Parts: sequence; structure tokens; C-alpha cells
Amino acid sequence: MNPINRRQLLANLTTATLGAPMFARAFQAPANAQQDVNKSPLPLKDYEPRSMLRVTETKIERARFPVIDFHTHLSFTDRNAKPEKSVFRAKREEILPVMDRKNVRTMVNLTGGYGAALEECVRYWQTPSPDRFIVFTEPWFNRAAEANYPKFQADQIESAKRIGARGLKVLKTLGLYLRENVNTGPLIKVDDKRFDPMWEACGASKMPVAIHTSDPEAFFLPTDRFNERYEELSAHPDWSFHGKDFPSNRELHEARLRVIARHPKTQFVALHVGDAEDLGWVSEWLDRHPNLSVEIGARIGELGRQPRAARKFFDRYQDRILFGTDAVPYGRETPQQIFGESLYEIYFRFLETEDEYFDYAPAPIPPQGRWKIYGLGLPESVLKKVYYENAVRLLGLSG
Ligand SMILES: [Zn+2]
Repeated sequence: MNPINRRQLLANLTTATLGAPMFARAFQAPANAQQDVNKSPLPLKDYEPRSMLRVTETKIERARFPVIDFHTHLSFTDRNAKPEKSVFRAKREEILPVMDRKNVRTMVNLTGGYGAALEECVRYWQTPSPDRFIVFTEPWFNRAAEANYPKFQADQIESAKRIGARGLKVLKTLGLYLRENVNTGPLIKVDDKRFDPMWEACGASKMPVAIHTSDPEAFFLPTDRFNERYEELSAHPDWSFHGKDFPSNRELHEARLRVIARHPKTQFVALHVGDAEDLGWVSEWLDRHPNLSVEIGARIGELGRQPRAARKFFDRYQDRILFGTDAVPYGRETPQQIFGESLYEIYFRFLETEDEYFDYAPAPIPPQGRWKIYGLGLPESVLKKVYYENAVRLLGLSG
């Protein structure tokens, strides 16, 4: 399908309404009800059902144990600036009081950039309070087409370590955006050999690799009435990886698994639970690769709607799961990730309580799909590991 047709299709789909004849037929509404509904169809975007369940609501203001939030974005790199510079999404004074109130001991700012931007970022966040903020570096993807890139990138890992970075973050750019000529040409594969020296250097420098590969499975399917992330994809059509020359979700993950297998001395953390819709498959990854852990940021919507499978997953892999939120200060585009007290309270409620049927995001309409979640009620020993012990070990921090 060409892009224009696809846009038209999306435009048509976004005007779909609940109570339109298509839906009424599907639900076999009684004739008179159907008539009423048809008189004033309710747009799907305006539908905000209020649950009638009387269920326990536990407010968890502080985490039961100190937390390391392994996945946050306190800064990003402005790549249009010359030279590139680090842009801070908030001030330290805005972040620290929230951390104190919520019992968040440390935040890991994954998108620390590289070179001068990384130095700026470390100087602002990490240097004044290395126990509260940790900064990761990122690959110089815009130089990936250069002949000397493999060695250059490996050297940059060591230099980032000297600057103060504690790990490497790899965005989903690798596999979905980065092309042979950076912005044009064929997509570069996640397991492209030019990155092997970089993965090895991370192992040698004891820098864990936090890697985001692929995206929710529904982003690879048509944005149609069967798509469970229909509203999210309609609001952000550019998040869809359906069609064009994109690899499948499976191909992307398999390429990452080959990288993990090829570099057994490097610690990898698959962000967003790897593939949160398929915990059975992720379990196979963890069984096969002892150098792999997972992080839960922006995926409690997935974990919390399969609470029994998720609880077993946490029991079984309690030493390999890290707490993370993917928090973005003022991140209005992604309501499930807006940094703030309510975000942390939802995560704590999910992990600590057995509350039922509650929102996974601080937003009036569930932004990643219209469902609610159930708490896991993790025992203290598991909570401690997920909240901080696993991250302490992986980052080489002192207890
Ligand atoms: Zn993220």
C-alpha cells in the first residue's frame, strides 16, 4: 500500500465510532438500542467508561524498599545543534524531591549521549550526587557508515567510561531507523558485525548494555479494527512499523538474541521486558542466555493484564528483572511515562499489592490499550531484588 492510501485509511479509521452500525451489528444490540445509539454515535475517543467494581484501592506513597529506576530519560541530545548538545528535560531540583518522597534512591538516565553532550550530562546529573543519578552513553550512530566506525565506536565506549558513563543505551533506532547511509539505504541489522567491537568493549569495561529492540507486537500489524493498540497508533501513525521495508518483530528479536549469544561476557538488559506480550518466549531467552536480564518500563500494562503468568515470571526470574519506568519529565506524548509521583505510585501498587482492575497509567484513557491491570503482590524478598538488588549488582554499585 502506498503512503497516501495508508494515510487515507488511517484518516478513515480515526473517524470510526462506537455505536456505528458496524459495531452495533457485531454486538447484536436490540433494535431500539441500536436506533438510539445511531442517533448520536459516541466517538471512541470520547468513551471513558467508569468501572462499577467495588474493589480495594491501596495507595502506596513510598516504595517498601529503596528503588533504582533503571530506565529514565532526563535528557536527550539535540543532534541538530552544532556542536551537539545535551538538553535537560527538567532541573535536578524538580526531580530530587519526588525521588525522596517516593523512596527512589537512584535514577539511571539512559539517554546521556556521547562526546561533549555526555560530558555535559554527567557533569550536571551524576557528578554532584553519584548516588542519586547515573548516566549511560549511546552509540555514535551517525558515523556508522564510516569505514573506521567499528574501532572508533569501541574506543568511544572506553572514553565514555572515563567520562563517567556506567553503561550503554541502544535505542530501537538500531533495527528500525538506522540505515546504511544513516537516513537512506537499507536498514542496518541489529546483529550487524560492525557493532561487535562495541559489544565486546562493553563487556571488557563492565558497562551493561540497556537495549530496546522492536516495539509492541501490535505496532507491526495493520492499524485496523482488530488492532489492540488502535487508538495509540491512530494518534501516532509514525509509530507503526507495518509494511514498508521493516523487519518483523520476530526477526528483530532474533537478531538481538544472536548478538547476546555472540558476546557472553557482556551483560545485556532487554528493556520493556523484551517482548512483554510473549512471556513464554522471553523465558526461553532468559533460560538460554545467562548474560541477559529484563527491565519492566512502560510494560506494566502488559504484565498486569496477565497477572498469573507475570507472577510466575517474577518468581522464576527474580534475579534477572529490573525496576524501570521509562520516565520522561513532561513527556505528554507518552502518558504512561510522565515522570511524577502518580507514575511511581502505580508501579509500586502493581508490584506490591494484590489490588484488582486499576489503571496502568496516570491518564483518563488507558493510552496503550483499553484495559486495566492487576497487582502482583510480590513477596519482600523478590521486591528487594527487583527494586534495587539486581541493579546494584549489574551496575557494580555498593549495596
Ligand atoms: Zn525509554
